[in-house]
Amino acid sequence: MSDAAAERGGEIAGRLDRAVGAMQGFAVGDALGATVEFLTPREIKAKYGVHKRVIGGGWLDLRPGQITDDTEMMLIVGRVILAHRGWNLSACCAGFADWLRGGPVDVGNTVRRGIRRFMTDGTLQAPYSDGDAGNGACMRNLPVALATLDDPAAFRLWTLEQCRITHNHPLSNEATLSLGHMVRALVRDADVAAARDEANGLVAAHPDFRFSVYRPGDCSPFIVDTVKTVFHAYFGTETFRDCLIETVNQGGDADTAGALAGMLAGATYGAAAIPREWLDRLDPDIASACRKQAAGLLRLVSAGTNEE
Ligand code: MN
Ligand code: MN
Repeated sequence: MSDAAAERGGEIAGRLDRAVGAMQGFAVGDALGATVEFLTPREIKAKYGVHKRVIGGGWLDLRPGQITDDTEMMLIVGRVILAHRGWNLSACCAGFADWLRGGPVDVGNTVRRGIRRFMTDGTLQAPYSDGDAGNGACMRNLPVALATLDDPAAFRLWTLEQCRITHNHPLSNEATLSLGHMVRALVRDADVAAARDEANGLVAAHPDFRFSVYRPGDCSPFIVDTVKTVFHAYFGTETFRDCLIETVNQGGDADTAGALAGMLAGATYGAAAIPREWLDRLDPDIASACRKQAAGLLRLVSAGTNEE
């Protein structure tokens, strides 16, 4: 093998490790955070000291390692992209509708309303609504970011269509684009500086997202609160484990914040940095779906099939 070919091989292996890290990190964050979803930091402290084990339970009474709507919906987006070798809006709507009919363990209000709208009148995009600034569209966009690593225009187009199936609000759109750009830079080139610039850019455009001053426990499902919690933890820690522990112990929408923090941390530190005791507890079917989808989505990138 030539030096250039060996280098290219190493680059591909690095990308795959970070893409699998993002997907599995997301699922691990969901499973870890769900235990303390809707608790306050004070309640978490009284019950667990520091919450740091994948033990299930929580208000949804989950099995240890069980994931929730966040990971389920994220994997639907990935499945649709892989099945169509690119984005397909109506297939994604249909996938969400099938999922809702199946009686998921949890579903957010705006998400349910958006899917019901599609089921009732067949429209693929939600009209603008002031109340749609929840984190439900952002939480499921990771496969779009992975499938468009080398194509920023496709990333933007697919992301906005994906979000607007249920959420049509500028704060949801902008945050989802920003987090996706961060993941793309991290998975593509391990470019932490670019991720930092992206976060700073979001804060500059929308100062509500400023995370340098953080009030503990301020992690509601409002996209601004969720993203601030994730940024505060991600930029303030140096390992996957510390980032996730810092995030989920804020309580509130801890599974969604945990998932998004796990996505960023996994894309930064790689799949090998996810603590064994967490990954071993994760539902094995989910761990394997995350690994396979990550590999499949990166194959789409190298095949250059980002156009419909
Ligand atoms: Mn959830
Ligand atoms: Mn949640």
